[in-house]
Amino acid sequence: MKRNLLLTPGPTQIPADVCAALGRPIIHHRTPQFQENLKEGIAGMQYVLQTKNDVYFLASSGTGGMEAAVVNLLSPHDKAITVEGGKFGERWTELCQAYGIEAQVLEVAWGHAVQPRQIKQRLDADKDIKAVFVTHCETSTGVTTDIQAIAEVVRKTDAVLVVDAISSLGVIDLKMDAWGVDVVVGASHKGFMLPPGLAMVAVNEKALRLVERSKSPRFYFDFRASKKAAAKNDTPFTPAIGIIVALGESLKIFRKQGLEAVFERCERLAKGTRVAAAALGLELYPDKSCLSNVVTAVKLPANIDGTKLVKIMRDTHGISIAGGQGELKGKIIRIAHMGCLTEEDIITGFTYLEIVLKELGHAFPAGAGVSAAKKTFEELPVAR
Ligand SMILES: *Cc1c(COP(=O)(O)O)cnc(C)c1O
Repeated sequence: MKRNLLLTPGPTQIPADVCAALGRPIIHHRTPQFQENLKEGIAGMQYVLQTKNDVYFLASSGTGGMEAAVVNLLSPHDKAITVEGGKFGERWTELCQAYGIEAQVLEVAWGHAVQPRQIKQRLDADKDIKAVFVTHCETSTGVTTDIQAIAEVVRKTDAVLVVDAISSLGVIDLKMDAWGVDVVVGASHKGFMLPPGLAMVAVNEKALRLVERSKSPRFYFDFRASKKAAAKNDTPFTPAIGIIVALGESLKIFRKQGLEAVFERCERLAKGTRVAAAALGLELYPDKSCLSNVVTAVKLPANIDGTKLVKIMRDTHGISIAGGQGELKGKIIRIAHMGCLTEEDIITGFTYLEIVLKELGHAFPAGAGVSAAKKTFEELPVAR
């Protein structure tokens, strides 16, 4: 079979046990058997999120979970801060605007992270702001934002903190309860190693009070219905049965390895990737103060067409990496560190990246990227 290695930040590789679970015959959802799957799925999500809060499953891609957060928390004309430092930050603004919510955009230069004091200034200046929408890992730029420090600011106000952790959940640490994050949105097809089609939203008490009061139009995504059903270990509508069953297998992997070990493995892949890129004479896109262990964004030399590079990698060599989005189209490539990717996968990625870069006219010492990655992996101590 032709190689099909996904080094993209969603969808990601699916491990064999999870694949096997996806191949099981479908079961009905109003059964004790599925209720057991649902219970396990929610408990597993609470484990990854380090929370006791409700977690609601929605049959949608990640953006559906984001939309659900917006309509359930805010009413038309409410004010919210949206942090925009890339494509996914912009999505929060667009979602608010679609529902007549006043999005006060906090613009951050792409490749940089918002500073908690910028959010504090905005919240101090306007006590009517009801919510702050941020992105944990801005997948379009490879920037990680310090959610703990932002939560420290927001928890002292009446506003709720809503985090798009779609690419970061299960890849880097997010302690929902200890940090005091009010709403977290995740999705199945990134760190959880599943096909797309399942979004998860965790909601705390502070946020649930807003859910009761929101006047935004909502039906399928109404958390009041989700909450009522969750109390009976059920979902309001037909859930993404197959993905929830397979999530059980994915969560077994998390529990078996332990969260710390999972985060550490992703960090190793990120470190190897950064060193390999440098060895090829390539710079990282984000500022070094906010590099992400979720995905690495690498700048391409001006003479290299990134779109072409991504296409050759995929069509000729069976390796999917991501290109740039929006203003970064053709200018960067992005390599993910999430899910079940291994050091060998990163080395394979660089083996072919070197071939294609050379073909497109970039000069570097042959084998430099691969050997730099290997050396880093060998030298990094393995904890545990
Ligand atoms: C993938 C992703 C999303 C959601 O995208 P969908 O295509 O709707 O699943 C949202 N935010 C971030 C940061 C992402 O990486």
